Amino acid sequence: MKKTIEDIDVKNKRVIVRCDFNVPMQDGAITDDSRIRAALPTVKYLMEHDARVILMSHMGRPKGEPKMEFTMKPVADRLSELLGTDVVFVSSPLVVDDAVRKAADELKPGQVMLLENVRFRKEETENDPAFAKELASLAEIFVQEAFGTAHRAHASTAGIADYLPAVSGYLIEKEVKFLGDAVESPKRPFVAILGGAKVKDKIPVIRNLIGKVDTLLIGGGMAYTFFKSEGCEVGKSILDEDSVELAASLMKEAKEAGVEMLLPVDIVCADKFDNDANTKIVPYNEIPADMEGLDVGPETVKLYGEKIRKAATVVWNGPMGVFEMDNFAKGTNGIAEAMAECPGTTIIGGGDSAAAVRKAGLADKMTHISTGGGASLEFLEGKKLPGIAVIEDK
Ligand code: ADP
Ligand code: MG
Repeated sequence: MKKTIEDIDVKNKRVIVRCDFNVPMQDGAITDDSRIRAALPTVKYLMEHDARVILMSHMGRPKGEPKMEFTMKPVADRLSELLGTDVVFVSSPLVVDDAVRKAADELKPGQVMLLENVRFRKEETENDPAFAKELASLAEIFVQEAFGTAHRAHASTAGIADYLPAVSGYLIEKEVKFLGDAVESPKRPFVAILGGAKVKDKIPVIRNLIGKVDTLLIGGGMAYTFFKSEGCEVGKSILDEDSVELAASLMKEAKEAGVEMLLPVDIVCADKFDNDANTKIVPYNEIPADMEGLDVGPETVKLYGEKIRKAATVVWNGPMGVFEMDNFAKGTNGIAEAMAECPGTTIIGGGDSAAAVRKAGLADKMTHISTGGGASLEFLEGKKLPGIAVIEDK
């Protein structure tokens, strides 16, 4: 178990919190503030417990330079609105300088300040110890609250913990609880659904999950590489030629491990990669040479749905088809509906899968939707995330 903000005394202390305020922007305005809202419970807890709160984050890709189109100013303004109190913001091209240090020193208990974009300094992504120390010098405690960058060892996500005691905020606590604990000690049956575009991206996940799950359901673009490995023709479907042999050995590994690994039984084929394409539903081994598979068919949704509804734990990563086009979103939506109806613990890890669940209006029916695409994938791969590893154990 990792220490959280509730396990330490924060009263009067300067607490520096690494948030994920990497919000989408258009013409200098925030188009979606959900990442800022997501951090509010942690920020409010610290304010209410008389901490002197210093927040920091990156936004966009300023590539180590103080490019003002990536200033955190709009985030400071939105935070002030959401908290109903002024947020101190000193825009420094160096992120930390004398003016920033002074502002941090002068913070009163319950007050909040936001630093400038940490990626204004190239030392951030280099995890430079001197920069980590500069950040650490502002505070007495480090709180990790940015899951989206927890798989990166940067100065503000990992290096800083060499100089300060580190605990988790509420967001990180939740990610560790669901992605970590559910995968490590799941209630069974434990079903994982894997989709997405390419097998290659998901090989380490498949490998790790074969050792843990009872049932593995494969869909999306990666299914065609598995079909090919069984000797089926896949027409013009997305195919990862280099991974065909590997797909065969993963099937074998699953069999030897006693894991039920299922492939789609029917496919929605299209004559072109277009929402208005002519389509045809065929058995998995009858994909016409001049068509491509863009979604799983209704029989697959039924079969997978039965497994999902009976599961005690379900983890889903990767859409079942090209869900961005409505005519090829039925497979993905069907899986989302089955998960919504599953009485067990349901977890979504993966940026596109999360988007699909939101689009289907089923987000509030899931136990947990991870906030970090890349980070959640690494969790499912069984990797140690640097930003999580630095948090002290209870
Ligand atoms: P996640 O972000 O949930 O981890 P991925 O990024 O791995 O998921 O994959 C999502 C992408 O996979 C989507 O853009 C989707 O269009 C694509 N995809 C799914 N099925 C197919 C298919 N049959 N052919 C081509 N692309 C597909
Ligand atoms: Mg993705």
